[in-house]
Amino acid sequence: MPVFRPTRKRLPGSPRLGDTPRAITRRALSSALASARSAYPNEFGGVLRADPPGVISELLLVPGTTAGRRHANFQLYMLPADLTVVGTIHSHPSGALHPSDADLRLFRSWGRRHIIVGTPFGPGSWRAYDGNGEETRLEVHETAAASEPREKLPEYRPKAVHRPLPSDTADFPEDEA
Ligand code: ZN
Repeated sequence: MPVFRPTRKRLPGSPRLGDTPRAITRRALSSALASARSAYPNEFGGVLRADPPGVISELLLVPGTTAGRRHANFQLYMLPADLTVVGTIHSHPSGALHPSDADLRLFRSWGRRHIIVGTPFGPGSWRAYDGNGEETRLEVHETAAASEPREKLPEYRPKAVHRPLPSDTADFPEDEA
């Protein structure tokens, strides 16, 4: 008997598994900020998942990650061999949003995008970094759809619709009988 498998359709040009994510969902970002707030004054640490590829949509707590007063220690060997895992996120109770020397070593060893959140854990209390520790841009999307348009498409206006002007409203041919 033939087996029918549902295939996930990919739009041409849409991100592939393993691509560098360009965005994070507002939900994932808010949940990270909330977790960091509740871990305060300790650090919070987790890893970022992008599924579908291209948009970070989920946080995973790494088993064995210890939230210390000074630094979250990532046990990267505990990470699943999973290409949807694209980087790390952790908090700085000090409020500093730049990476420490230890952070730079972590960023350079593994991952494509890393996020640091800091006190007061407001909507703008975060920065994203690439694998070299350089600050980078990450868009905030309302949904996990990788195809969320960057800019709004021009509104479609059909041209054939007759829009009567005030002067010709009383001028219909059937009234001339
Ligand atoms: Zn740090």
